[in-house]
Amino acid sequence: MNSGIYKNLALWLVIALMMVLVFNLFNTNTQTNQKVTYTEFLDSVTKEQVKKVTIKENKITGEYKDNNTRFETYAPSDNNLISELRDYNVGIEATPPDTTPWYMQLLISWLPIILLIAIWIFFMRQMQGGSGSKAFSFGKSRAKLLNQDNLKVTFKDVAGIEEAKEELTEVVEFLKDPAKFQKLGGRIPKGVLLVGPPGTGKTLLAKAVAGEAGVPFYSISGSDFVEMFVGVGAARIRDLFEQGKKNAPCIIFMDEIDAVGRHRGAGLGGGHDEREQTLNALLVEMDGFDSNEGVILIAATNRPDVLDPALLRPGRFDRQVVVPRPDLKGRLQILKVHAAKIKMASSVDLEIIAKGTPGFSGADLANLMNESALLAARANKDEVDTSDIESAKDRVIMGAERRSMVIPEKDKKVTAFHEAGHTIVAIMTKGADPVHKVSIIPRGMALGVTMQLPSDDRYNETKDHLLGMIRVMLGGRIAEEVTFNSMSTGASNDIERLTSIARKMVMSWGMSDKLGTISFGKRDEAIFLGKEISSQKDYSEKTAELIDDEVEHIINTCYNEARKIIEDNRLLLAKTAEALLEKETIETSELKELVKEYAAEGYKDNMFSEKEQEEKEETKNENN
Ligand code: ADP
Ligand code: MG
Ligand code: ZN
Repeated sequence: MNSGIYKNLALWLVIALMMVLVFNLFNTNTQTNQKVTYTEFLDSVTKEQVKKVTIKENKITGEYKDNNTRFETYAPSDNNLISELRDYNVGIEATPPDTTPWYMQLLISWLPIILLIAIWIFFMRQMQGGSGSKAFSFGKSRAKLLNQDNLKVTFKDVAGIEEAKEELTEVVEFLKDPAKFQKLGGRIPKGVLLVGPPGTGKTLLAKAVAGEAGVPFYSISGSDFVEMFVGVGAARIRDLFEQGKKNAPCIIFMDEIDAVGRHRGAGLGGGHDEREQTLNALLVEMDGFDSNEGVILIAATNRPDVLDPALLRPGRFDRQVVVPRPDLKGRLQILKVHAAKIKMASSVDLEIIAKGTPGFSGADLANLMNESALLAARANKDEVDTSDIESAKDRVIMGAERRSMVIPEKDKKVTAFHEAGHTIVAIMTKGADPVHKVSIIPRGMALGVTMQLPSDDRYNETKDHLLGMIRVMLGGRIAEEVTFNSMSTGASNDIERLTSIARKMVMSWGMSDKLGTISFGKRDEAIFLGKEISSQKDYSEKTAELIDDEVEHIINTCYNEARKIIEDNRLLLAKTAEALLEKETIETSELKELVKEYAAEGYKDNMFSEKEQEEKEETKNENN
């Protein structure tokens, strides 16, 4: 970034200036002249002690003969001086009077200080993070005003979160006609808090409320309040509410409110840090206005758990609207909204795509549609078809392919067996998510990917499913061990993830037989440093040992089961790896063929639907 260069430059300038100043200081110090009176000077001249003098107007500086020390004095207009000096053999030198005008002198002497101040202001601006003109408006709110004209978002653009929309309809009605509600003396909610995972459409929803009601919409992000100067955030809050009241009816939208609204008393800097002042100002302002004035506060967060309870009490953000990840129906509706923006082939069945994207948020789906349009454009197509959407999906889930990466043949082979290991365990584990695609094309940080997609939306993890996940993750490493009798670092991410799952099973989810349904340790992750330090281990050393034992037990059991699957299915493993090395990516249909042909006897796979399973059995019996 450019400003980085300027900052560096400014820093060096300051350092250089300092050095010059310091140097000058010492320089003049060493040359300090001894001050003498005119009489003393004349005496020294008559005693022939003076070597030479420099006369500048009426100031005389000179040097003694013996030790070269310098002196200075001021002369009255003495007409005999020159002849006297000549008599005693003193070297005479004269300099012209100073011709620098007074203002130049002033400038020169003040220049360094002016420069320093300029640089200081420059730095302050940088830290403010604002553009130039804002350098001195610290206390002004940063709220952006979106007027009706540029607010084209309405409820039509928000899909798949019907409940949340319904709750907000009431707010819209109030904003449209406040008088109707006030007639009966009802109190309108002051604040609505939108809670939900990132990308589910909280910001969009708030905009849609304003768009529907046709009122001004002030939007500000929580982080705009967090500044380096104590008190600035609080001043901004007050300014924001003032503006809001002036423009009522309107909506004040505070995005990412957790940046200011965190639990007080959890910071390291004692009770007086900037954030707390800001939060206090917010609480006070919220109490200080009456929603009947027509100002409605909407806030959004994805971390309601860290919010200060004072924010959530009645009279403040007393309405919480949950904005969840969309379910199948919701995803289909969101896809429809975004598909309308691109040119889509009529053959595309959005329902299938909605089925294949469980866990996607609204933003993910919007991104998916956009990516597929870009991919189709790159391929010079006229319309976006299903294959574009499929590759866009892979890209969104697994990251872009890194085809340019050159991988040695040996590593490729290890990766192929590793991924085949994951795949085979996933196929042979009951309840594990079906394998959607396996690939040894590097993507993102990974050398290969085994992509499983859940067959349904999942809201709750069962113990069996978690154990299955651990088994599948172990499969990669086991395949390497069984095939090459060696281990690689490629499994480090698998190992990290499976260990964390096993730990949570024991410590948070009460899924261990020995320890039972007790939660150990603080369940929520460290919110930020202050909280972690104050949280304590709420179990004994003995229990800690037991926890470790249980975690180990879970992983070992899974390891043995997965190892048995792989050892029994070595032929399938080899064939799958072979196919991977040849084609780089294999899909469900090809996997099915491999399983049909090479799976070991006595294993029940989860590749085929029940009907297909029966057909498979029948053909087998016929062949025998
Ligand atoms: P959040 O604020 O919850 O993190 P946003 O509202 O910023 O998410 O959503 C980002 C983008 O994702 C939106 O601009 C929109 O294009 C898309 N999006 C998210 N949710 C939905 C939805 N329910 N319906 C339509 N589009 C959505
Ligand atoms: Mg947002
Ligand atoms: Zn792996």
